[in-house]
Amino acid sequence: MPLREILLYPNPVLRKPCRDLTVDDLGSDGIQTLIQDMIETMYHYPGTVGLAAPQVGESVQIFVMDSTAKTTKDRLKVLINPVILRQSQWKYSREGCLSFPDYLVTVKRARKITVQWLTPEGQTQTEEMRDFEAIIVQHELDHLQGVLFIDRVKNIQTDLVLRNASASTPSQV
Ligand code: ZN
Repeated sequence: MPLREILLYPNPVLRKPCRDLTVDDLGSDGIQTLIQDMIETMYHYPGTVGLAAPQVGESVQIFVMDSTAKTTKDRLKVLINPVILRQSQWKYSREGCLSFPDYLVTVKRARKITVQWLTPEGQTQTEEMRDFEAIIVQHELDHLQGVLFIDRVKNIQTDLVLRNASASTPSQV
């Protein structure tokens, strides 16, 4: 399974809304290979907790995540056609993004969400997620719609910093 190249901003693919997948699509070798490649690519970059298909050049509604950033795959999730059904408890947090290696951005996100998605086997799954996992889902779901974290910055002077200048380096998604 090959690693996939990470597209960097301003690659235009990062701006393209992704298409939904059908259960038939999920049965194809191409999609299953893409999912495996995305998992391998996410774990390849230390500290990475999420990766969306457009970041590897594919405009389809898939992202992978693992809030532990460890390669044991304990918390690995693959979300296809994800939808947020409910969100609440908004707060600001600092995020990194593989497609913006030089920047950290402060973004307002819901701390509590209910998300529904299809598994790679085509099963519908609904789960409530909180805190770090909830933030990962919102960041990745934005990627699937061509939205990037810089779009959510309120004040470019205070809410965007160089990664090197930051004392603590958060995970990237
Ligand atoms: Zn990102």
